[in-house]
Amino acid sequence: MRPFDYRRPSDAYDAVRAIVSHPGAKYLAGGTNLVDLMREGIERPGTLVDVSGLDATITELENGNLLIGAATRNTALAEHRLVRERYPMLTRAILSGASGQIRNMATVGGNILQRTRCPYFYDAAAACNKRSPGAGCDARDGFNRIHAVLGASDACVATHPSDMCVALAALDAVVHLMGPSGYRALPLADFHNLPGERPDRETAMRPGELIHALELPALARPLPSTYRKVRDRASYAFAIVSVAAGLETADDGTVRDLRLALGGVAHKPWRACKAEACLLGREITPDRLREAAELELSDAKPLRDNGFKIELTRRTIIAVLEQLHSEARR
Ligand SMILES: Cc1cc2nc3c(=O)[nH]c(=O)nc-3n(C[C@H](O)[C@H](O)[C@H](O)COP(=O)(O)OP(=O)(O)OC[C@H]3O[C@@H](n4cnc5c(N)ncnc54)[C@H](O)[C@@H]3O)c2cc1C
Ligand code: SF4
Repeated sequence: MRPFDYRRPSDAYDAVRAIVSHPGAKYLAGGTNLVDLMREGIERPGTLVDVSGLDATITELENGNLLIGAATRNTALAEHRLVRERYPMLTRAILSGASGQIRNMATVGGNILQRTRCPYFYDAAAACNKRSPGAGCDARDGFNRIHAVLGASDACVATHPSDMCVALAALDAVVHLMGPSGYRALPLADFHNLPGERPDRETAMRPGELIHALELPALARPLPSTYRKVRDRASYAFAIVSVAAGLETADDGTVRDLRLALGGVAHKPWRACKAEACLLGREITPDRLREAAELELSDAKPLRDNGFKIELTRRTIIAVLEQLHSEARR
C-alpha cells in the first residue's frame, strides 16, 4: 500500500475543509471497502479523512421521519427498535450482508458508496472504463455471470452490490449531503447513476461532498415488508438477485401501498416502478403478479453468462409478493 496522510476531523465542517484542502483526499469510514481497494492499488488517496467518529445517532423527528447519522454502523441501524418495527425489510437487508464483524465496522455512508464487485474492476491488469475512462470493458465479453441485466451500457455492465440500498430505494430514503457550497438533500433513487458513457461517475455527488445523514420517511400506516436475497452461498456472499418489498392491501383486497426494489441486476438499486404501477389499486392474482414482473423486466438484456438472472428475478419478485400477500390474508 502507498503511504498516505491521515486526518481525524472534529466535526463535519472540519471534514469537508480537510477534503477540499487536500486534493486527491478521500473520506474513510469503516474502511471495509476502501482499505481493500487501497491494498490492491485501485484507490490511491494521498490523504484519508476519517469520518467514522462523526454523527452516529438515530433520531425520530417530529414528523415521524428517522434521521440517521452517516457514521451509524450497519449493525446499529439494523438492530434499532424503530427500524425493526417499522422497516423490517431494511433490517433484513442489512443482516443479509457481509458478516457480523464487517457489519460492526461498516457505516451507512460507506455502504451507500461501496464500489462494485465486478472482478475486472479489482484486477489492475484488466481493461475497465470505471477505473480508466476510455480503456474498455473486459467484463462485456468476459465472464459476466454476476453482471447487470437492466440499465447497463456498452461502457459498463457492473452492478451495485449493496443490500441496504435496495431497501432504502424501496423506502424512498433521502441522502443528506454537506459540501463546500452548503447542504442539500437528494432522494436515494437519484443518488446513484446508471453507467451510460461515464461509469466512473457513479453518483450525483459533487466534489468534496460528505454524506452527512440519511432520512427515512415515516410510513402513513404500518407496512408489512421483507427482503429476499438469492446468492451462491447461504452466507457471506453478495446478491445474485435480491428483492425488497412492502405490500399493504385495503379491506376490499386491492393493493393500497406497494414498494418494490431490486438488487444485483443494475448499476444502481433498481426501483421497480413499472411493476408497482401495474399492481397498485388492483387485486393480487397469480396472473397479475406474472404480468407485473414481466413488465418490469421487459427491457432486460442478458449478457453471455447471465441470462438466468432475468428468469430468477421474475420468479423472486413473484415469490416475495405472494409471501407478503398470503401473510396479509392470515
Ligand atoms: C468480505 C465482504 C463481504 C461483503 N458482503 C456484503 C454484502 O453481502 N452486502 C453488502 O451490502 N455489502 C457487503 N460488503 C460491503 C460492505 O457492506 C461495505 O464494505 C461497507 O458497507 C462499506 O462501509 P465502510 O463504512 O467500511 O466504508 P469505507 O470502506 O470506509 O468507504 C467506502 C467508500 O465510501 C466513502 N465514504 C464513506 N463514508 C462517507 C461519507 N460519510 N461521505 C462521503 N463518502 C464516504 C469512502 O471514501 C469510500 O469511497 C462486504 C464487504 C466485504 C469486505
Ligand atoms: S463492467 Fe464496469 S466495472 Fe466491470 S470491467 Fe466493465 S467497466 Fe469495469
